[in-house]
Amino acid sequence: MKTIHDAKTLNAYLNKLPKEKTVGFIPTMGALHNGHLSLLNQAKGSDDIVICSIFVNPTQFNESSDYEKYPQVLDADIELLKTINIDIVFAPAVSEIYPNGTDTIPTYDIGILDHILEGEHRPGHFQGVCHIIDVFLNMIQPHNIYMGEKDIQQIAVVQKLIEINKHKTNLVPCSTLREESGLAMSSRNRLLSESGTEKAATFNKALCHIRDNARNSSFEKLKKEANQMMIAVGFTPEYIALCETKSLEELIDFDHTKIMRLIGAAFIEDVRLIDNIAV
Ligand code: AMP
Repeated sequence: MKTIHDAKTLNAYLNKLPKEKTVGFIPTMGALHNGHLSLLNQAKGSDDIVICSIFVNPTQFNESSDYEKYPQVLDADIELLKTINIDIVFAPAVSEIYPNGTDTIPTYDIGILDHILEGEHRPGHFQGVCHIIDVFLNMIQPHNIYMGEKDIQQIAVVQKLIEINKHKTNLVPCSTLREESGLAMSSRNRLLSESGTEKAATFNKALCHIRDNARNSSFEKLKKEANQMMIAVGFTPEYIALCETKSLEELIDFDHTKIMRLIGAAFIEDVRLIDNIAV
């Protein structure tokens, strides 16, 4: 496994690859956990060359304090990646990706996705996501990009980016890995205390409460109960939305003729967690 920090070296490596080799790419912000490893293992099973980026992208953080406290443990990440033996870790510095600074980035027309759910609560977040993925896709031109359904709206955004900028990359959505408690694995879980981690599992339990009663109650009523469950353990819920899975269009109540998804965000111990489950 090679660790590369600059685009020039990465480019030289990619140019030497035989044309028939397929490249699988997994963008991450590091502080790796088994959820990330599941994406990497899926890529290893399908592609000849697997590249993982580790880059905490400043332009996708709408709060500077969130950016500053985001866990960064590059050396430990590299050691972990050595154990599963991928080909390349690409870990550029901020100045490598943003030589002219981070104040201005291009605008990406991703339509309503920019303004709903995470887009509404984290203004500018998806513009930053689009930019970094656009940069990486141009640089690496992978056959496949693997992304987790934990960030379900991010998948829709990157699919849209691939269409509008005509990237030739195929997006492979991967299922969410969870702790035994049901808590979705996340780098941000590292910021929680032991008791915070235990309590955080209530987020998924609250979503499951809505899902499990969807045939005998209204969404509004179940959402209230879910919020109460979460508040009782110390969560500050931000939103829980019921959406049509593909368009992410919000539904006022259950419509069992549609494929639905519950999507939410909530704070515990000042850490913002997101999760989503199928209904
Ligand atoms: P991040 O480092 O949080 O930006 O995540 C990098 C990639 O890993 C994204 O495509 C995420 O959706 C995915 N990912 C994060 N957490 C999980 C999880 N628990 N299960 C599966 N994929 C995940």
